[in-house]
Amino acid sequence: MNTVTEIFGSMVFNDSVMRARLPRDVFKQVQRSINEGRRLDSEAANIVANAMKDWAIERGATHFTHWFQPMTGITAEKHDSFISPIDGGKVIMEFSGKELIQGEPDASSFPSGGLRATFEARGYTAWDPTSYAFIKDGVLCIPTAFCSYGGEALDKKTPLLRSMEALNRQGMRVLRLFGNEDVGSLKPTTGPEQEYFLIDRAVYEKRRDLIYTGRTLFGAMPPKGQELDDHYFGTIKPRVAAFMKELDEELWKLGVMAKTEHNEVAPGQHELAPIFTSTNIAADHNQLTMELLQKIARKHDMVCLLHEKPFAGVNGSGKHNNWSLMTNTGVNLLEPGDTPAENAQFLLFLCAVIQAVDEYQDMLRLAVTSASNDHRLGANEAPPAVVSMYIGSELEEILSCIERDEPYGGKEKEVIKVGVHVLPKLPKDTTDRNRTSPFAFTGNKFEFRMLGSSASISGANTVLNTAVAESLRRYADVLEGAADFKSALHDLIREVISKHKRILFNGNGYDSAWLEEAARRGLRNLPSTPDCVPCYLDEKNVRLFTSHRVYTAAEMKARYEIKLEAYNKVMRIEAQTMVNMVWKDILPAVSAYSASLADAALSKETLGASFDTAFERETAAKISALMRETMDCASALKAANEQARAEVDPLASARAYHDRVIPAMAALRERVDAMELLCDREIWPYPTYGDILFSVK
Ligand code: ADP
Ligand code: MG
Repeated sequence: MNTVTEIFGSMVFNDSVMRARLPRDVFKQVQRSINEGRRLDSEAANIVANAMKDWAIERGATHFTHWFQPMTGITAEKHDSFISPIDGGKVIMEFSGKELIQGEPDASSFPSGGLRATFEARGYTAWDPTSYAFIKDGVLCIPTAFCSYGGEALDKKTPLLRSMEALNRQGMRVLRLFGNEDVGSLKPTTGPEQEYFLIDRAVYEKRRDLIYTGRTLFGAMPPKGQELDDHYFGTIKPRVAAFMKELDEELWKLGVMAKTEHNEVAPGQHELAPIFTSTNIAADHNQLTMELLQKIARKHDMVCLLHEKPFAGVNGSGKHNNWSLMTNTGVNLLEPGDTPAENAQFLLFLCAVIQAVDEYQDMLRLAVTSASNDHRLGANEAPPAVVSMYIGSELEEILSCIERDEPYGGKEKEVIKVGVHVLPKLPKDTTDRNRTSPFAFTGNKFEFRMLGSSASISGANTVLNTAVAESLRRYADVLEGAADFKSALHDLIREVISKHKRILFNGNGYDSAWLEEAARRGLRNLPSTPDCVPCYLDEKNVRLFTSHRVYTAAEMKARYEIKLEAYNKVMRIEAQTMVNMVWKDILPAVSAYSASLADAALSKETLGASFDTAFERETAAKISALMRETMDCASALKAANEQARAEVDPLASARAYHDRVIPAMAALRERVDAMELLCDREIWPYPTYGDILFSVK
């Protein structure tokens, strides 16, 4: 048995492997291309490719692939073998610098939102040296960006990398104003906490809704639900523990720092948290994590559900995006620090995030929207659809005192002058956290909690990075020209607080009173995907992303179309699946059951009046009425689905799904769930909620 330290990163072509296997000057070139984004020359690329190939073959790899993240949100790979023919019917194993740096996947089937006309169906993948190559299932995977030949981003990684550059550009301007001579660059860091459900494979395979849509479309609540709360942080079941052990080992081999695992609120729900890293790598690692969760669950005869809301009435799954900013010298810029200068710098970066979240709340909401995540954000579940921030009562009080030039902590204390005074110590009590807040400061980082469990983290981080870059750009513009830096800084911070404090909210995020209060404050409430998606086309948002060169206007339009397309497709499949389940499985089963009740009643009656048939008669009558309603609701759903599908404009189609298909689905479900409660357990064609949620023993 290998030790963890031996296993960790053993399938990653990382710095220490490169240092050992590359000539010194080539290693240095690679480092430069990692740190400064410079391209490798072709000679160096050939040497790196060859070293990578030898290393991969030693570890059993036979193929390589350019691994990328198309706009579908899942990763894509096309495997090529290293084999190259030579004379005499033999082969050698080859991998060139050209193959390392650039690839051409057959990309016509990936969504492009009109960016890539069909006559120019080609796109190319380009090596992203900031994320290490790795071996997965005998394939050398090279993390790449995916672009059209016109240079448009066809993936999720390219905009994320561009947003990190924008943040570095503007952040460095601000850092220079504070001295910081030693700092060469800064990067956003992310640690995404991943929630998921584990269920037994046998029950999964009996549910068409889970198979086709990832969630249950029918199902009455079990008598034992999550109200018992005995699952949360409870002991982990042996089967789950074995799964987690294997998952950890596989993730560690790939250099993913999986750290904590525990049960979550709902039965069958769990969470995995990695140690944070640079956002780009965190995004790659989260994709790998989601892939391995599903693969390893299968090996243990379980299925991992990443859907945001697999079970109605049971806690959903999200992803908490812990985010901060880190200099190349290892300083966390959201750490308050001890001196007046450190405090001042911290306050300005804090303000940059507050302003960013307030000004681009619509884009943050949009970045996390999807048909599946609407079940969390739009419904009565944490976090709500309105974006707000929680920074803790002490920090909010400090900001308020700075804004009003009032002393903090009682009359005898001084008025806080930014850059002159030391801030009062902030208690780092982790219990003082607002669990309902969509965007919470947790002492030295922010936790953005609106992300769905199945989503790539790239979109949300791209928005966050760019919006913060914009705040920093404005601050640098003001401060670079200031005659008196300290007083200009103080005034700037006061101004930002007074303008953007409306986004700060410490109360209960799912209280309905908050929605009214939020409306009074002018915050956006965008409960569903069709409500959010038009924000891609807002002039304010297009200006943000184009001015920082993160998205072009055409790239934003493409994402608008792709989001709508994906939404409409999910809705269509769900509606069809429901209708199908009703006609093929549910009504036939219920019909047979009611016939057996009728038979029982009749045969009892032939035996005489002392045989009571109330149960059979009343149940059969209730079931008959519900069967009729079910038929009507299924027909109504089918019609609504067809109408929504017939809309030519994708936004009109999405609205039709939202406004008419979703209510029709709910009406149908209500009837079916009522029948489930009336029917004999044995005849119900699907495992029940109780069977599923407690299926892993
Ligand atoms: P919890 O929220 O459960 O109390 P922690 O606060 O320790 O746990 O960390 C939660 C997540 O936040 C982890 O994935 C961790 O790596 C991440 N995290 C911690 N510090 C940072 C940071 N500076 N930048 C980004 N993520 C961070
Ligand atoms: Mg957390």
